[in-house]
Amino acid sequence: MATTELKCELSWSASRRKEFERCRKEYHYGRYASWGWWKEGPDSERWKVAIHKNLTSLPAFAGNCVHDSIQHWFEMSRGGVRMTAAELYEECVHRFREGWRQSSAFDPRDRPKRGKVHLAEHHYGEELSKERTEEVRALLERCARAFVEGAACAPAREAHPDSWRALEELGHYRFLGVPVYAVPDFAYVDGDVLHVWDWKTGTPRGDDRFQLHTYALYACEKWSHDPEAIVLHAAYLSEGKVESWPVELGELSAAQDVVSESVRAMMEVHYDPLEDPFVPEHWPASPSASTCRTCRFRGICSDVHAAARPRLR
Ligand code: SF4
Repeated sequence: MATTELKCELSWSASRRKEFERCRKEYHYGRYASWGWWKEGPDSERWKVAIHKNLTSLPAFAGNCVHDSIQHWFEMSRGGVRMTAAELYEECVHRFREGWRQSSAFDPRDRPKRGKVHLAEHHYGEELSKERTEEVRALLERCARAFVEGAACAPAREAHPDSWRALEELGHYRFLGVPVYAVPDFAYVDGDVLHVWDWKTGTPRGDDRFQLHTYALYACEKWSHDPEAIVLHAAYLSEGKVESWPVELGELSAAQDVVSESVRAMMEVHYDPLEDPFVPEHWPASPSASTCRTCRFRGICSDVHAAARPRLR
């Protein structure tokens, strides 16, 4: 049977835009430099880049554990079972331990599968003190408690399953022919109003509001929802607070302009790494101590900032 050849297609999401803006070289590593790794062996450059592409950080992984556990909370709730804060916390801890075990047993010759946990801290041999793991444990506990017991999250918890519109599903719509991806953590309707929720386990960031507005754009495209009847909620679980923003047309239109500009900028440099020549000027490095320190590719990038260069193990 003939197999379909995978194509390196351009797609857009708020996180891809962030990477593209932060450092073009990092974006190139993540989107192009590993493309085709599955046709090559563990000693190849592409395979090595793919391993780095799959690295996650301790805070990001802890966030995933909370997201996955909350998704499970909703699924249980749909079946009539309400997990307590203690049960949700136990589930977060279980997921965390499981991922930690996977990461500790990582072998560079294993296929770099998505979804398999590989912590950058393990990969780069960073010290993971008891204080840091205790901070993660406390974060999981705070988030579980804020979600299950906090008054701020009550509207989401109490939404009837019949009103749910999204629960962590990856969705997309096309803009200028490019798939634009969005993963609203949770969305439900109350009367005519669509409420879109995003669980945050870190501290508030400047672009959280923009990210949520890209979900509003998605809701307009996907469900043809009236933009002026959408309310966005950023739930900062670790701080136990929720910030809510009713969508205003001006801000939504500004977000649409940013998406449009970003998609066009990516289209200008997009190429097929297996067919087309690499143009180095399209992918300049933007090294800085702060961006390189958290970059997954800091161990293989020749432009890494000196202050972020990992120690060789
Ligand atoms: S290490 Fe720094 S310069 Fe290199 S890709 Fe990452 S962010 Fe860019």
